[in-house]
This record gives sequence, C-alpha cells and structure tokens, in this order.
Amino acid sequence: MIYDCPIREGARVHPDAEALRFAGLRWTFRELDGEVTRWTEALAARGIGQGERVALLSTSHPAVTFLFWALGRLGAIFAPLNARLTPAELGPLLDEVEPRLTLALESLRARIPEAESLESFPGSVSAREPVPARSWDADTARVILFTSGTTGRPKGAVLSEGAFRASSRASAANLGAHPAPRWLGTLPLFHVGGLAMLTRTAYEGGCLLLHERFDADAVNRAIDSEGASHASFVATTLERVLDARQDRKLPDTFRCALIGGGPVPTALLTRARAAGLLAVQTYGLTEACSQVTTERPGEADGRTAGPPLPGLEVRIVGTDGATLGEGQEGDVEVRGPTLMARYWRQREATREAFHDGWLRTRDVGVLDAKGRLTLLSRRTDLIVRGGENIYPAEIEAVLANHPAILESAVVGVPDPHWGEVPVAFVVLRPGHALPDNLDAWCRQSLARFKVPTRFVAIETLPRNAMSKVERPVLRKYAQPHPP
Ligand code: AMP
Ligand code: MG
Repeated sequence: MIYDCPIREGARVHPDAEALRFAGLRWTFRELDGEVTRWTEALAARGIGQGERVALLSTSHPAVTFLFWALGRLGAIFAPLNARLTPAELGPLLDEVEPRLTLALESLRARIPEAESLESFPGSVSAREPVPARSWDADTARVILFTSGTTGRPKGAVLSEGAFRASSRASAANLGAHPAPRWLGTLPLFHVGGLAMLTRTAYEGGCLLLHERFDADAVNRAIDSEGASHASFVATTLERVLDARQDRKLPDTFRCALIGGGPVPTALLTRARAAGLLAVQTYGLTEACSQVTTERPGEADGRTAGPPLPGLEVRIVGTDGATLGEGQEGDVEVRGPTLMARYWRQREATREAFHDGWLRTRDVGVLDAKGRLTLLSRRTDLIVRGGENIYPAEIEAVLANHPAILESAVVGVPDPHWGEVPVAFVVLRPGHALPDNLDAWCRQSLARFKVPTRFVAIETLPRNAMSKVERPVLRKYAQPHPP
C-alpha cells in the first residue's frame, strides 16, 4: 500500500474545506497545503531526507502541524519533545534521537542551546527546485514518541505511517460515519493523543480546532460556536469543562468526547451524559498509537473502557503465560496494525515489549463476556497485601466520591506483617480539612483488606512531565522512617 500526504489529497479533493483553526486564524486545505509545501522545500534545502530526524520542543501551534506534514512528505521522522521537560531531561533524549535539525518555540529555546527558532524557521529559505511529490509505504517510520515511564530510561516508540492510518480508520469505524469531524485539539502534540487527533482529522478531511493549551472556557466556546464535533480529554479536564459549562445545553453539532489516559471514574462519565455530553471511556497507550479499546458510543455506560477497536485484538494473560478467559484478571496484551515498530535504538526493551506479535502493555485488566476491558492497575502499581491483590485505582475511585476529596493516589508500602499495605495520599477540596471518617467511607464499598492503613493529606500529587502520578515518590514519602 502506498500513501500520499492527506493534506495534498485534501487540497485536490476539497480545496476550500476548512482544515485548521488556531486563535482566530483559519486555513483551508489549499492554504494548508501551500504552507506544508513551503516547509517541505525549506527542510529539503536543509538536507532533511528519508529517515532523518527533526526534534521539536514546542506547545501546540500551527507551525507544528506544518512541520509534521512536511516531514511526512520527505519520509523524515518527527521527534516531538515534551514542552515541560528541563534541560537536564532533554539532553539524553536528544542524544538518543540524534536529530539533523532541532526546532524550539522561541520562548523555550533557552532549554536547548543548539535549537533554531520555530517561529522564524522557513523564513525566506526556499528550495532551489521543487521537491517532487513522493509517497511512502506503511512501514515508513513517521514519529519517535517518548513514553511517560515513571521509572528507568525513557523509551522512544517508533510509530509508522501505517500505524497512524490504521489508528484513524479504526477510531472512525468505532465512532461512526461522520463526514468531516471538527476535532478539538487540546491534547499536546507531543503526546500520542494529540498526534492521533491531528492525523485522524486530516485523513477524514475534517478540521482541527487547535488550542495552545487546555482552557475550559475556550473548549466550551469551541463547542458552542465553532461547531466542534469531537474531543479528547483526561478525567480532570473533562471535569473542568463540565464545571465551566454549568447548565448550558450542548449543541447538536457536538457528537462525542473520548476520555482516557488514566483511570476514569464512572461517576464522571455519568455526570457528563446527564449534562448531555456523550463521553466514552477509552484505553490507549503510546506504543499502540493511542486508542486500543473504546466504548461504542451507542452502548456506553462508562463502566468499562469498552471493546477493542475494529481490527485490534486484546487478550488477558496469566503470570504463567496462558491466555485467560472472561472475568479473570491478568496482563493486558494487544495485537494489531496500530502497534509501534520498535523502541528507538533499544533492542532489549523492544524484545521484552513483544512476544509472538503481541504487545505487553504492563497494565492489569479483565475482559467481560462482551469483550469489554476494565483496567485494574499498572503491573508495577499493584499492591499485594498478604497475598491479596489490591488495585490502587479501585480505592482511588472510592475516595474520589468523597465530598472533601479532589483526588488521591494510593501506593503500597512495606509492612512487616502483611508484606505490603496501602497508604492513601489525598488532595482536599478547598476549605476542607482531612475528614476523620475516611476509614469508614472506604469500608462501605471496599473489602477490609483494601482499606488504606493511613490517609495522608498532601497539597498536590507529584506528577512527572507527562502528568502521570509519580508513585515511587509517594512510596518514599510513605516510609515511616525514610532511609
Ligand atoms: P502512556 O504510557 O503515556 O502511553 O499512557 C498509557 C497508559 O495510561 C496505559 O498503559 C495505562 O496505564 C494508562 N491508561 C490509559 N487509558 C486508561 C484508562 N481508560 N484506564 C486506566 N488507565 C489508562
Ligand atoms: Mg506507557
């Protein structure tokens, strides 16, 4: 299979359709194609060709999309870096990627001494001759995306052109025919969720409503007056969107929001649906180019992360490697055309990630009779108390329903009697003190062995640059006598 750039295709087929919006600016497919061509020529003039890497440090801006599509036309690899990383964190990533060119948003440029300014990049540079239109096959590496591992050496997932195409197709098949989606782009473009939104919209001839960063009021304006049809949020941002909307009715133009990236409280999805906002739970990961399972919009009840997208397979495997049946908890594995090709320059890690074509996700979950997945925990977050498995997410969901609690994280700490016991760190809602009924609150809905032995109030949860809770840090806090 040979693929052409979807922006060039779009410019041919529906040149005047809107392709991109950002801060009041608009681009049709023809205009976007013009920008991408200019960037392609400038990059070619700088010697960027097939397999060459271009690293980027930026928040979401139109220039990021021009760069992304231009690199695709050259068969070159896009290596976006998380805009929250410090110079000390960026250095090792750049050493791994060995970019031919590094671009950074002017305001972030001080973090990478060798980076050139994104804003002034193509400037007046132009190719001595036009770059011939070429197309690439499914195996062409398109992106190196560093995953959010909270421990160990960062791993760059290599995602191919074919993986992005397959992911877009599978997502569209699940969400239902929609002639030209208008996708709200509030997830960063240095995360797989953001890139998947960018590609999905282009392949379907839709429009990306790009936001530099998440802002609940801006999201609601895009829903109410810019015809946004789809969005992706994590639980906390969905909550902020709902809070900011108050009782305003959702317009018919809005179809559906995907909620994932971490545990999603069922109560939150119920609240969204009660407000008229169809929100479906999704489970995905960088190594599988975003969505793996997603609730079917017509059958969503928010209680599971849904069945695998069409064309993908999920199985649950026991510690002995045997495939388990419905209702049995074990390791989640995924197979399908959206999987990464490998980890960039990490043979050993790649070998460990796959077996027989299945990707080991390191998540623990269970499938129900309808093939719907429920996530229980990260393998490494699992707490084992006297032989009983405890999934932090289950306790955190109970705590999230307490009126005084904004959010929480539960970690296992060593215990001489039980081996390990759960300790809960809770962030209180403004104006609340640590309630003294948390133990009783948990006992109402949890088996006794799951009830945390301690509840510790904390101002904010420690999070890494990818916004994932840093459980190792909490485990250290929880030690009765720090080493
Ligand atoms: P990342 O490592 O940044 O690619 O994020 C993927 C990880 O986020 C998965 O391996 C899960 O641990 C977590 N995750 C994503 N979606 C969900 C979900 N719906 N429920 C629980 N955890 C999730
Ligand atoms: Mg991961």
